[in-house]
Amino acid sequence: MAVRPVVVLAGGVGAARFLSGLVQVVPPEQLTVIVNTGDDRDFFGLRVCPDLDIITYTLAGRVQRETGWGLAGDTFHCLEALRRLRGDAWFQLGDQDLATHIQRSARLREGASLTEVTREITAAFGLELELLPMTEAEAPTRLLRRDREPSDFEEYLVRDGAPDDVEAVDLSAAAAAAPAPGVLEALAAAEILLICPSNPVVSIGTIRAVQGVEARLRERRDAVAVSPIIGGRPVKGPADRLLRAVGAEVSAQGVAKLYQPIAKAIVIDRVDAGLAPAIEALGLGVRVTETLMKDTRVCRQLADLTLKFAQGSE
Ligand code: GDP
Ligand code: CA
Repeated sequence: MAVRPVVVLAGGVGAARFLSGLVQVVPPEQLTVIVNTGDDRDFFGLRVCPDLDIITYTLAGRVQRETGWGLAGDTFHCLEALRRLRGDAWFQLGDQDLATHIQRSARLREGASLTEVTREITAAFGLELELLPMTEAEAPTRLLRRDREPSDFEEYLVRDGAPDDVEAVDLSAAAAAAPAPGVLEALAAAEILLICPSNPVVSIGTIRAVQGVEARLRERRDAVAVSPIIGGRPVKGPADRLLRAVGAEVSAQGVAKLYQPIAKAIVIDRVDAGLAPAIEALGLGVRVTETLMKDTRVCRQLADLTLKFAQGSE
């Protein structure tokens, strides 16, 4: 398969918004997105891949905009019926969303790989970019928590509401996982390598943990990242709690430090302009711009600037 020149590392909601801008400035057939699967798990025997689906639904223009996940206008009749039957139906699964998980599970059971199934689903949603799961192995992120049992990521986020009780992040399943076919090849051949404004620990950190990925990224050390932290806070989600759990500072500078071994530059928000000298002292280039992706114009501008920065023309 021909290698696509622009390769992007991605989690879910932050990534999907950034990618919605990127597909306006790069022809989608030139894009490969390597997606975190550390949040994937089974619900009621169905394989659910939250980050792959968030990106697919967003780029297809079908996502529920208010939440950033699920399908717009979806109903929850099946889930309501399930809740009458069992007590553990805490994960939100809409009726049409369920069709994706049923199809994925059916195809996996028929012997298709996650890479193949993902290609089929993205094609069915009309996407031309290539979404690659980081691995075809099960590689759940485990969170070690104060005064309670360890949990997987969705249990922590959705079931428990992401409390500030994470003491350590266990990426050993990702570290034992082989990369999906095409992942290392894409990383070797990319002309441009970007890191979405995604959770640096449980989205990008998981991809980096997969066998061979970090070494390939360090060899290049030319990724351009966008900070998911603005003004010392995540825009959404528990990135602050997880950065603290790995001993990192909750700031664009803390993110830059985590990416220093693999990145040549980072895009940060205007409100963080004062951090630029300290980040440059880490040996990273810095661009300052509006990074809160509140509408399609900002998504596009941010993607355009990040891409040009990576190409060295900005
Ligand atoms: P998840 O898998 O759905 O949690 O999504 P990601 O890992 O891709 O993204 C979560 C991160 O996206 C959070 O740390 C947010 O701060 C970040 N994020 C969400 N929206 C924006 C935005 O508009 N701008 C920036 N810079 N970051 C954002
Ligand atoms: Ca995720």
